[in-house]
Amino acid sequence: MELVVRTPGAAAKGRDRHTGARGPAAGAQEEEALLLAVLNSCPVINGVPTDELADDDKAANWLATYGRTGSEVEREVVKDVRDVLADVVRGRLDASAVSSWLDRAGVRPRPASDGIGIRWEILTDPDHEVGMRSILAWSRLQHERPGRLRACENTECQLFLIDHSKANTARWCSMAVCGNRMKARRHYERANAKRN
Ligand SMILES: [Zn+2]
Repeated sequence: MELVVRTPGAAAKGRDRHTGARGPAAGAQEEEALLLAVLNSCPVINGVPTDELADDDKAANWLATYGRTGSEVEREVVKDVRDVLADVVRGRLDASAVSSWLDRAGVRPRPASDGIGIRWEILTDPDHEVGMRSILAWSRLQHERPGRLRACENTECQLFLIDHSKANTARWCSMAVCGNRMKARRHYERANAKRN
């Protein structure tokens, strides 16, 4: 089943992301990238927690890269969705925590773009589009690849990863950053333990 987020006016602007040459796989990748960008918008930089969406102008620019207006409501929604999804992925909140956004969305069947059967369109307020797309991408991952979306194992890192490895053993948001840092720390701790 294909789910498409459609907000009023989107078709008129030619922004239907799921028609044309791109297949569903490319669409799903794009949505996963959006979900990760949302979840990873508050990185710890040089030990200091930051938030790319805290500043109104920066948040509006951030949303503009996804074709959005970055209105006040939109900025609040995407931050709220981010914080709730982060807690859900970390197991601190139940999945029902996303209900309030789902309650605002509708659904309607449309003829599928490939001419076979139907697809389901999620109808939502334009200000909720990025938040809803994030929730749908998270939901799709939970169903199709459960456990693949998780927090980086570096407890000083706030980032999340989607594990694409066959063995599903990725532990860090980035091998170059957290992976090497944690290896260096373990090496230091082992060397220290031997000395004592
Ligand atoms: Zn990390």
